[in-house]
Amino acid sequence: KQRERQVLLDAYEFAARMYHFLLKNTEHGKQAMAYLKGRGFTDKLIDHFQIGYAPPQWDTLARQLDKREFSMPLMKQGGLLLSRDDGRYYDLFRDRIMFPIWDARGKVIAFGGRILGEGQPKYLNSSESSLFHKGRTLYNFHHVRPLLRKTRHLVLFEGYVDVIKAWDAGVSNGVASMGTSLTEENAFMMRKNADLITICYDGDDAGRNAAYKNMNLLEKAGCEVKVALIPDRMDPDEYIQAHGEERFLREIMNEAVPALKFKLIYLRRNHILIEETGRIKYIQEALKLLAVISSPMEREHYLKELAEEFNQSLDTLKQELNLIRQEQQ
Ligand code: ATP
Ligand code: MN
Ligand code: MN
Ligand code: MN
Repeated sequence: KQRERQVLLDAYEFAARMYHFLLKNTEHGKQAMAYLKGRGFTDKLIDHFQIGYAPPQWDTLARQLDKREFSMPLMKQGGLLLSRDDGRYYDLFRDRIMFPIWDARGKVIAFGGRILGEGQPKYLNSSESSLFHKGRTLYNFHHVRPLLRKTRHLVLFEGYVDVIKAWDAGVSNGVASMGTSLTEENAFMMRKNADLITICYDGDDAGRNAAYKNMNLLEKAGCEVKVALIPDRMDPDEYIQAHGEERFLREIMNEAVPALKFKLIYLRRNHILIEETGRIKYIQEALKLLAVISSPMEREHYLKELAEEFNQSLDTLKQELNLIRQEQQ
């Protein structure tokens, strides 16, 4: 078992090196390289994240692994190869940009493969194997871990590309989970290594909803959570492309709002505030959120904001809040 594990790790490391080499040194790699350059990937980024390219042929990796006497059934079991009915082995990833995925110690354990341009599926990820458990994996965590001992601060993105582009902008503590649903294991691992998590998901509905859901999971695990909001339905990569790295840091990362503020923003979207009944319902829901704040000063701050915005007296809101607090007890 231990031996098989090491063989698989060797195979993944070989595959990552091969895809990286093929991207940088082959004719086929050129169009992949052009695609990456078009999206703003520099040589520095391509090297640091060991980005690669899987050519269109159906057995590029299979042949190389076979030549090096890796066991084909093991390679299939480990998620690197597929097999046909006639028993021949072929590559899972073809004509895709390859993002190696590492475990916490920096060993390659899986790949995310992106199609060049449009098409489905956009990303093909390695299936789970004895090495790769999605729920326990955070992309880029091995780069970030050494920094956390001092800073105890993680930034959580939606996609690999967001992590990479943000890193280039100076966000050296970015990670991404495998897909937008964070697991309890992810949350626990993040809590162990950080006190503060900034969620920076895509600015579309899917991203906002996932931020709301995962924020609650992270708070339950005991983390302080902030949310960096991106306008115009853009994702971090698109925002950086459109407005530059400096503005991303200044206007998005530095303006991350506390969890409660995000919950209020989120709540607002679900109420029709031009109608009296919608406004009252919103204020009541908002007060429920404020009721659980333990710091009186913080509570007062949000109460004042609410009072001013909806033209209510602070006293009335305080009375309402006290009623809610009595109910909650
Ligand atoms: P890109 O910028 O390359 O288009 P993205 O990161 O913006 O990619 P999203 O559609 O926002 O892509 O998805 C976020 C993440 O969700 C991806 O990085 C990937 O991990 C995962 N994902 C997206 N599409 C798929 C898919 N079809 N199958 C599996 N995972 C996917
Ligand atoms: Mn998205
Ligand atoms: Mn995205
Ligand atoms: Mn994107």
